[in-house]
Amino acid sequence: MTTISIPRGKYHIWTVGCQMNQADSQRIQTMLDELGWEEASMEQANLVVLNTCSVRQAPEEKAHNLLAQLKRAKNERSDLLVALMGCMIGNQKTIDALEKRYPHIDLFMKVEHADILPRFLEERWTPISGAGCLDIEFMPDASDETDDEIPVFPDLPTFATSTSRAGKRTVLPMAITPKPGERIAHYPTKIEPAKASPSAWLPIVLGCNKVCTYCIVPYRRGRERSRPMDELMIEARSLVDKGAKELTLLGQTVEAYGLDLPGQPDLADLMTNLSEIDGLERIRFMTSYPRHMTDSMIERMAHLPKVCEHLNIPVQSGDDAMLKRMKRGYALDEYVERIERVRELWPDITLSTDIIVGFCGETEEEFQHTLDLLEKIRFDVVHVAAYSVRPGTVAARWEDDVPLAEKKRRLHAVEEIQGKIAFELNQSYVGKVEEVMVEDTNMTHGRQQLKGRNRSNKLVFCPVPDSTSSEGQRVFQPGDFVHVRIERATAWSLQGEAVVL
Ligand code: SAM
Repeated sequence: MTTISIPRGKYHIWTVGCQMNQADSQRIQTMLDELGWEEASMEQANLVVLNTCSVRQAPEEKAHNLLAQLKRAKNERSDLLVALMGCMIGNQKTIDALEKRYPHIDLFMKVEHADILPRFLEERWTPISGAGCLDIEFMPDASDETDDEIPVFPDLPTFATSTSRAGKRTVLPMAITPKPGERIAHYPTKIEPAKASPSAWLPIVLGCNKVCTYCIVPYRRGRERSRPMDELMIEARSLVDKGAKELTLLGQTVEAYGLDLPGQPDLADLMTNLSEIDGLERIRFMTSYPRHMTDSMIERMAHLPKVCEHLNIPVQSGDDAMLKRMKRGYALDEYVERIERVRELWPDITLSTDIIVGFCGETEEEFQHTLDLLEKIRFDVVHVAAYSVRPGTVAARWEDDVPLAEKKRRLHAVEEIQGKIAFELNQSYVGKVEEVMVEDTNMTHGRQQLKGRNRSNKLVFCPVPDSTSSEGQRVFQPGDFVHVRIERATAWSLQGEAVVL
């Protein structure tokens, strides 16, 4: 019998981009931990995984800079492997282009194909470390007569190998294109950090079916696929067992949950089931889309005590012509009507949104309509981005005609108005007592400071109260709950003193 011994190495995962990327990285980390690999700094790692983001140009440039650094590192070290995942991985054409530019990348991997990692490490790490090597190009045929037992991996995805470079070989997962309604079976479901953070991510819908003209996500993440309810329940329970108190349900259009599942359970059904999990205190969700948000869904969510009163509902622009060019799929009236309805059905709900400034052809008047919308709706938080061309999108064929300086001016104009609105809204918390889940603690002027969020997702800071009890001062940990009487508010946070109720 052939025994393959795989020496363990050290890994480093570098992550940029959205919450979905962070959730994906946790899955990769779980797999590597289970393989016995050890987390290390980038300088010490034998495997560097770059989990990339292509939504805007800036995070993509960061990855390019790192790839250049890793090229130099690889020239000096033979024991370094580089894997690329995330939204920079598109179709075979984009992979080929990246491979040409960065021949030192050893593995291109979509998260759905992460189950190739163990085999990749056997293939590529063992020769480097001098132990036995399972060579995938010489996998014996099952009909071969041999005394040795041949390991068979019937559910591994198909591999394509490229032998373009002499003496080196890259292992690539073959492109898998999901058909409508088809779910990719390989999304890694196991996420078992030894200790989960008190706030954990739960991706519930993968991919995106919208084709907003500026956005690369659907080209990189594929079509929408909802993860089955029972799979999500198992994962949620495991996260809570490991210490998670708050779960954030993730999807590009989170209300699309279940549309492609048998029986079509919806987001509120999932939240109802999750609410049954003992030890789970808070449920959050993002990102919302006005068209999929039915009254019934909002009403049921609003009545679930664990579901927090906060909605992230990107509008992108306050101008109808602009929304059409962006192909957002709704007119402004419809968006505003949904917000009004949400506010009626869900008292105390807070709202955040995303805005893009300087999209192709945006006139001063169109931009002014966005500022008018901010004044009208009065969002609690606005995430604003200057438009950047994403090759491969529809808008990449259009002229990017708003100069950078003008984009920056518009971005600052949004920030200024929003800063004023957020400051005013946050004053309404002064004097109120808020339930805060501690996310972080630090020492300031010899006293422990707590940082956390209230239910409506506002950042709250407070010093740990002095204790005169015989047990001494209570030490607070991330995941603890405190009640804080708010004494001051800025545009970005609330500050106060802890109180005992
Ligand atoms: N699915 C969400 C939605 O309905 O809009 C958000 C998707 S996207 C990953 C997150 C944010 O990135 C968007 O809301 C948008 O504001 C921003 N974004 C996407 N493409 C962009 C681009 N080409 N330039 C600047 N910002 C962009």
